[in-house]
Amino acid sequence: MTVQELVKKVFFVEILKGLALTLSRLFTKPVTRRYPKEKRPAALGFRGLHALVRNPATGEAKCVGCGLCAAICPSRCIYIYTKEGPDHKKVVERYEIEVLRCVYCAFCVEACPFGAVVLTPHYEYSDYSRDNLYMTKEKLLQNWDKYMGEEGYNYFDKFWNPKADHFRTPKEQPKWRKS
Ligand code: SF4
Ligand code: SF4
Repeated sequence: MTVQELVKKVFFVEILKGLALTLSRLFTKPVTRRYPKEKRPAALGFRGLHALVRNPATGEAKCVGCGLCAAICPSRCIYIYTKEGPDHKKVVERYEIEVLRCVYCAFCVEACPFGAVVLTPHYEYSDYSRDNLYMTKEKLLQNWDKYMGEEGYNYFDKFWNPKADHFRTPKEQPKWRKS
């Protein structure tokens, strides 16, 4: 053991350095948040709870029941039931998503030619009941009203055609080291 190492050991130099670092951190702004009291908005393009888009003209679901979303879904968790309506038109009787099996790939959103299904920014939907996480057409339309609404009509512009400033570092981004 060298003299330098001996001095370090005798005077607890490394421990004192660690304590000094801890003390200096006591007076800096914390980067952690007290969730759920403090929340941050979801990042752009966040893939949260599903919703069916309402047609602004009719107030009904935009979905026409083509089934492309169900065909592309890798989890096979979208179920669509159609029937023949007036004038031999196809009517979407039921549109259901088994949320617990979803992997949030957003292929359904990408595949839909009508922009009729979206993944909302809502992420706080854990539950004790499987039934509550089985989304029916009515629930999916309610999700649209609750989590997207009028703003939701810009969803595809924002999410699928992101503008350059959407990729900048968020002002709120915690900094771990001084740059
Ligand atoms: S996000 Fe992916 S896994 Fe989930 S419903 Fe859509 S296609 Fe299926
Ligand atoms: S792809 Fe779009 S329009 Fe076709 S069934 Fe799915 S949500 Fe409806």
